[in-house]
Amino acid sequence: MKRFEYEDACIKCSLCVTACPVYRVDQQFPGPKALGPDWYRHYQAGEAKPMEHVSDCTFCQLCESACPVDVPIAHLIAVHKELASQSPRLAVRDYLLTHPQWLAMVPSLVKLPKQLGVPLGISSSTQWPAPSPLQRSRRHRTHQRQGSATRRIGIFVDCFTRGFDSETLLAASAVLEELGYTAVPLPSASHCCGAAAYASGLLGEAERTARSTHRAVRRMTSGLEAVVTLNATCDDTLRVEWPRYFGLTIPVPILPFVDFVLDRANPGFFERIHGLPGQELIYTHATCRSKVARGEGSLFALMERVSERPPQILEISCCGAAGSYAFKTEHTKVARALGHRAKEVMGEPGIILTDSGTCAIHLQELTGCQTIHPARWLHGQLKRQEVLR
Ligand code: SF4
Ligand code: SF4
Repeated sequence: MKRFEYEDACIKCSLCVTACPVYRVDQQFPGPKALGPDWYRHYQAGEAKPMEHVSDCTFCQLCESACPVDVPIAHLIAVHKELASQSPRLAVRDYLLTHPQWLAMVPSLVKLPKQLGVPLGISSSTQWPAPSPLQRSRRHRTHQRQGSATRRIGIFVDCFTRGFDSETLLAASAVLEELGYTAVPLPSASHCCGAAAYASGLLGEAERTARSTHRAVRRMTSGLEAVVTLNATCDDTLRVEWPRYFGLTIPVPILPFVDFVLDRANPGFFERIHGLPGQELIYTHATCRSKVARGEGSLFALMERVSERPPQILEISCCGAAGSYAFKTEHTKVARALGHRAKEVMGEPGIILTDSGTCAIHLQELTGCQTIHPARWLHGQLKRQEVLR
């Protein structure tokens, strides 16, 4: 894997520290500047030892987006994490959690008593999703057979969607069909983009995983106009990190589902939903990687076009779920401190829309408000519109 050909560019402004959500709630966390460019300077000089608490970084990349000189701070920290020693027990735990493609194949494993994971360092208080496996969804197979449009769009089925959220895939497929496309879920078997391994500093594993998934996706892209993603972290990994760090490219455009709808839907589509009576107040939570790529941008913009009431941005920075982060015992406290802010900033109850399954279960648990993917909300509104017509 390509490690960093990084020339020290840090101007020591500390804007990254101000932007770091973990630094705000965890007094012991040294912060992005210390763990990233400061440490890397010593590392390149052959003098650095891994620092304590480096694994407490969520890899949200908000520090990178705040940096005025584009230091790849979170990626330097990922190299730092790779060199930090782990007890064998936590190394096993991290290996399991950074292969969500296995859990997606046997999602019923989450029904095992939570206490079984405690000796390995898996949090017993973080909520697991309920299994909703794609392979058992007869409705989805039926839906695929019914797809009649000639324009074909791939949907990248991330591990969470495959194992725990077939409803979102069904809803996204149905919305795309409304727009005149047949959706092709890919890859055909459970694969991970490598984001979870990368975030935990298992960089070699991240590359092996990415290469395997790249082969599986690439062979299915013939005849597709684009590949849409349902999870913002996977989207950023496929679109930005695969080419930049692994030299892997997909021969068709990759873009988030929300951006695709905003770009391809005609005014009639938005008018059908806008103004439907009885819509609840909508809060949008763009995941961190989505914020890094396009700010609160497209999710909020889409909801502004379709929601009867003006939507509100959930002003919380990172919610603390961060993929597998909240499932690690030593991170649960920080994850919950970050997520609890959601309840504090919500003026009144509403529905939270977010493009990440792990953010959704975390926010739903901590706010008590239904939290779903925007595809499910759009599909629900289209069905309501059919009934009301
Ligand atoms: S990636 Fe996120 S948690 Fe890690 S140092 Fe940067 S801002 Fe902080
Ligand atoms: S890494 Fe970037 S944001 Fe952080 S101190 Fe250096 S220049 Fe400033």
